[in-house]
Amino acid sequence: MSVFRIAIVGAGPAGYFAAQALQNLQSDNRKFEIDMIERLPTPWGLVRSGVAPDHPKIKTVSKVFEKIATTEGFQLFCNVELGKDLTVEELTSSYDAVVIATGTSRGRKLGIPGEDLRGSLSAADFVPWYNAHPDYVDVDVPLDTDTAVVIGAGNVAMDVARMLALEPKELDVTDTANHALVELHKSAIRQVHVFGRRGPEHAAFTSPELRELPKLEHTDVEIGECDIKDALERANSQGELPKDVKSNLDAMMLIAQTPEKGNERKLNFHFLASPIEIKGKDRVEEVVFAINEVREGKVVTTADTYSVKTGLIISAIGYEADPIPGLPYDGGKVSNVDGHIKDTNIYVVGWAKRGPSGVIGTNKSDAAGVMESLIGQLNEPKPRQDLSEKLRARGVIHVSQGAWERINATEVATGEPLGKPRVKFVNREEMLGL
Ligand code: NAP
Repeated sequence: MSVFRIAIVGAGPAGYFAAQALQNLQSDNRKFEIDMIERLPTPWGLVRSGVAPDHPKIKTVSKVFEKIATTEGFQLFCNVELGKDLTVEELTSSYDAVVIATGTSRGRKLGIPGEDLRGSLSAADFVPWYNAHPDYVDVDVPLDTDTAVVIGAGNVAMDVARMLALEPKELDVTDTANHALVELHKSAIRQVHVFGRRGPEHAAFTSPELRELPKLEHTDVEIGECDIKDALERANSQGELPKDVKSNLDAMMLIAQTPEKGNERKLNFHFLASPIEIKGKDRVEEVVFAINEVREGKVVTTADTYSVKTGLIISAIGYEADPIPGLPYDGGKVSNVDGHIKDTNIYVVGWAKRGPSGVIGTNKSDAAGVMESLIGQLNEPKPRQDLSEKLRARGVIHVSQGAWERINATEVATGEPLGKPRVKFVNREEMLGL
């Protein structure tokens, strides 16, 4: 029987689904020993630091991750950074294959004047701030303004807008970071405006997310009914409506036709507007939009503009990878062909492979396909080397599965009397001491 050793770098959904695919590909004559390496002291990637706190159901996928992690042959090495504590070459020479599942953590920039003013930030900073990511505790999020602007018409923009527009009491029973909860309770924001540069028919939101908006108890959600009627007309003139577009437009029409509840907190959606400049002296004061039109199915920018007074702008316009030394990058992701880096034993899965698209489940079939091609290229197993010993010799304290289970249990136990699913640690030293 051959026992192959695989290093998976990144303990998010893509990494776990790659591990699961390998476990499923084991047979009487082929076994896998999997070492999962993660930069943070905690695993679960975006399920922990990305998924919105008011969406606890999505996080139940972590039960699947824990099942994978407690299957024979799997070891967890959190608090170990590729490119700092270990090199890519060390992994490729000591493992039969290396799987990169490190995602895309940098926010794409708008590239417009004023973007670096205080009060203009990326969802890539704001989301991990409210989700207790240890590297984002000190992000400056000025909430002392009555109006916030969110740029982008995708699900991240939607999460960000909801987090800003919700009555903070609704977040008290979630795992929102304590530091963020304190600030959100003090927040002066009462109007949140979301801007898409194309029409409602082109929005990247998904309909389940849109359909939950009219159910918000303390926030009135507004979409112009005319905007949706126009979008329907334009989309219908292009031929039969794709199912997802129809479902989105139906959900938006429902929002448009839901009577206002008279809440002070408002969440408004606007379309066909591209931000072209952010104005302000020491911080954001105003954002200028160019008005766009759809002509023969194409979105074109007109010479007309309007501006919105605001003290906070969050752009949620996609992500790109933070490069790791020793890996090739292109277009914001790891250069790969169908999840393989040419002439190497390195494979790539998840957002690091295909860019920031798809929901958590998308990674399952994606990783399974890449792992099929990985096993097709395995030869003789390499001699075994112990990663724990190497890390110990370098003075790197790693968080094992057992240590993570202690962190997890402590967080859950701390949350229980408060009616929360958990209270997340944000301090690395505290986590390493458990
Ligand atoms: P996304 O779905 O790709 O949306 C990005 C949005 O940014 C698009 O509306 C895009 O408009 C806009 N945009 C890009 N560049 C822009 C610019 N320069 N100016 C103005 N707007 C710009 O990305 P995402 O929201 O980051 O989400 C990433 C993935 O995670 C998606 O697959 C999403 O569904 C998933 N996700 C899912 C959930 C959930 O299931 N609840 C939650 C969060 C994220 P154009 O279309 O015009 O390019």
